[in-house]
Amino acid sequence: MAALLRVRGASQIVQVCANGEKVLRGAAMKEIAVLEGEGGRGVGVVVSKAGSITAVGYDDELDSQYSNWSFNKVIDANGCCVLPGLIDGHTHPVWVGDRVHEFALKLAGATYMDIHQQGGGIHYTVNCVRQASPDQLYASLIDRLSAMLRCGTTVVEAKSGYGLDTTTEIKMLQVLNRARQEHPISLSITYCGAHAVPKGSSAEEATDHILQEQIPAIVEQCAQDQLHVDNIDVFCEKGVFDRNQSREILLAGKKAGWKINFHGDELHPMQCGELAGELEADAVSHLEEVSDSGISAMVQSGTVGILLPTTAYILRLKSPPARKMIDQGMAVALGSDFNPNAYCMSMPLVMHLACVNLHMTMEEALVAATINSAAALGMAEDVGSIEVGKRGDLLILSTARWEHLVYQLACHDQCIKYVIKDGNIVYSK
Ligand SMILES: [Zn+2]
Repeated sequence: MAALLRVRGASQIVQVCANGEKVLRGAAMKEIAVLEGEGGRGVGVVVSKAGSITAVGYDDELDSQYSNWSFNKVIDANGCCVLPGLIDGHTHPVWVGDRVHEFALKLAGATYMDIHQQGGGIHYTVNCVRQASPDQLYASLIDRLSAMLRCGTTVVEAKSGYGLDTTTEIKMLQVLNRARQEHPISLSITYCGAHAVPKGSSAEEATDHILQEQIPAIVEQCAQDQLHVDNIDVFCEKGVFDRNQSREILLAGKKAGWKINFHGDELHPMQCGELAGELEADAVSHLEEVSDSGISAMVQSGTVGILLPTTAYILRLKSPPARKMIDQGMAVALGSDFNPNAYCMSMPLVMHLACVNLHMTMEEALVAATINSAAALGMAEDVGSIEVGKRGDLLILSTARWEHLVYQLACHDQCIKYVIKDGNIVYSK
């Protein structure tokens, strides 16, 4: 018999979950499953030829159980710890044309909406993306996905939304679909045609255009197997799409078979938590301005809150009330929000910010960046923990304890020794 990979000799296997949990809510986010080596007895993992985890346990037990097996690759993880690959719950990775010039304006006090209303922000990126060829977009996307992989991310949620017209939105979705086939990272693909109201249109006109033209065109391509879309997103915000417009667009996406996963309560209170409860949304991102009744609604509906500490940091917004959400029983996930405004591809940094600025514990941050991000994307059956049957997506750190990944503020390449996707080494130091 043969298997793809044997990892042996580790000091910790941080499984996160060990009983098939599909999400961890509230107080359960504080408890993570860790298999600890003891008294010179190492711990290890076996990944099958098909790329899924077939065993997790003490090396002496795995050695006798797999004594007649051959392994394509054996990793000696002596003095190391093993974690699940990280899952980035929110990114906008398909664009060209950076916005470095806007950083100075923001540092001088301009708000997100000041820049947006002057034709910068998303509008600037939309112009660049409309003019870019699919190959240009693809090349920059692949560079970014590879950088994310080196930071330990093995699954990424990735949005369209810098086209706003049908042709460019489809171009972005095609670029994401190509990367899904060709890059080792797994992608959860989100159609976000309602990311902004295009210049020269009203929000009503943009909503009509999305409902009458864009969604039907994308649904048609999906039906012909030319595109694959997982989620529908809207920027529900004052001056962008209001609650009623957002509801209509999200319901049209749900009808197309996509999961509801939208931007809400970021800059102004928009009662998006309540809307998520009503629509039984899979996830809502941001939530800086969520209300208490919005939190209760999301606890009821089981909606995952995807928090983005980089956004509050860079825009100097108040942080989302992570403590209140977790203490009231919500499931919280994390995302980098990688986009031209928040240029961050590192989930270890995001976890660090979640601990310092959002007052989450390191365990909660790890849960949020693994099993709960998987839950937000409807992927918790396959990824998000080191358990038998899940994909062999692993992160091996050169440190004996996993907390170093969160404790270190930067230069995580110092401690990330291997990144493994489906049992294959996709990065090694
Ligand atoms: Zn976003």
